Amino acid sequence: MGSPKDELDLLLRAKWIFPVDGISESIQNGEVAVKDGKIVYVGTKMPDHWQAKNVVEMPSSALLPGFVNSHCHAASTVFRAQSEDGEGGRALYTVAFRGEGIVEPEDWAIMAKLGVLEMAKAGITTLNDFWYAPDDMGEAALATGLRMQLATEILDVDKNLVPDGDYTRDSSIAERTLRNGVEVASRWHGRNNGLITSRLGPHAIDTVSEGLFKECVHEARANGWGLHTHAAQSPQEVNYIREKTGLGPVTWLGRLELLGPDWVLAHLTFADELDLKIAFEHDVGYAHAASIYPRRGVYPDLSGAKSKGIRTGMASDWLLNDPFEIMRVMLSATRLKAGDYKALSSYEALELATAGAADVVGLGDCIGRLKVGYDADIIAVALDRPHMQPFYGTATSLVWHARASDVTDSWVKGKPVLAKGEVDGIDESDALNAFATRLNHLGEMIRGLGGITRTDPCQCCA
Ligand SMILES: [Zn+2]
Repeated sequence: MGSPKDELDLLLRAKWIFPVDGISESIQNGEVAVKDGKIVYVGTKMPDHWQAKNVVEMPSSALLPGFVNSHCHAASTVFRAQSEDGEGGRALYTVAFRGEGIVEPEDWAIMAKLGVLEMAKAGITTLNDFWYAPDDMGEAALATGLRMQLATEILDVDKNLVPDGDYTRDSSIAERTLRNGVEVASRWHGRNNGLITSRLGPHAIDTVSEGLFKECVHEARANGWGLHTHAAQSPQEVNYIREKTGLGPVTWLGRLELLGPDWVLAHLTFADELDLKIAFEHDVGYAHAASIYPRRGVYPDLSGAKSKGIRTGMASDWLLNDPFEIMRVMLSATRLKAGDYKALSSYEALELATAGAADVVGLGDCIGRLKVGYDADIIAVALDRPHMQPFYGTATSLVWHARASDVTDSWVKGKPVLAKGEVDGIDESDALNAFATRLNHLGEMIRGLGGITRTDPCQCCA
């Protein structure tokens, strides 16, 4: 416990605290004391105990660890509403893969800002972002003070051909994307006093060859960066790898002796038992994107991953970025799949969205829990809302009834990122207005890719 003689930087007092420390489900009338960006006390209020430069009284709020998004593409907004209702996952290969090369840099920059705003306002304080507009994402991290891990895609196929099953390897694409991935990682690693770190992102198991995977692992480990990929995310990928190697995608990477604790594998939706066993044996982090798959009528084996002991945490991927909504999807889908309401508890869902996801991205000893010695990555959730009544102080009350829009404040390492619902550093109305002027143009692009839009024709494309 911190000493009252040491002046605190920040003292947060709230009606409820959810420390997610595996010990107390919640603390009533509690406080969190912060000094030099670290938590020095979590517990019941100790009136007149502290000297604090800044005291924030929140008698109608709950404090919890900032949400950690262990796999996301914050700037991918443009492909929303393309795959939600169509044939399972097909639009990923047709619209998104083909469209990403056409989106103009200014549009990526606006979408990165909006994506970061959306996540910050939802109480996400750490993003493990991958793929689109990494430099714009890095700038948004600098502007807002969010914690971020960055990677951009590396691959050696033409993504315009992949939808038709053509995986011809192209060394010039490999060279260009690996160089770019390394440059992005070098540019951002350690920025903002270490709040921004880098990973290399071999795109997916089917779009990256064995040789390129090996180069990525070599480069990442030589530079102290992590690794991030999509694994067992589609039947097309799994069928392709099985045909080629006779193995599941994770098993294949494991047999190549490439996996380790520095990896984040997203999805594992079509992984088999052996894939999960290999994932556990190599201590990879598993980013569980709960809200992505139920719309296709399938769901990853979360219970299997947890029971095997794989480091597992919440991810949004890209469609829905409300952690509360994602936790509810996770709970309902896992229970439905198991035919058992005991398959996942509300507290376990909260753990997956905070402590578990921090473990996945390699920060489990630093964030994801409100615990003495941890960095002060904290969010406040307003409880004085009609849909939150009555609030009984349980994880059930919090997880089943709160919404992203109830998050009012957040701090990263004790510094405010979200204050009374506003994110400092990015002008929200500017970003929204800028996007509005591009809507018809983006709609035209989506139409050209065979996607779904009812936007007006674009004059500049006519
Ligand atoms: Zn993804």
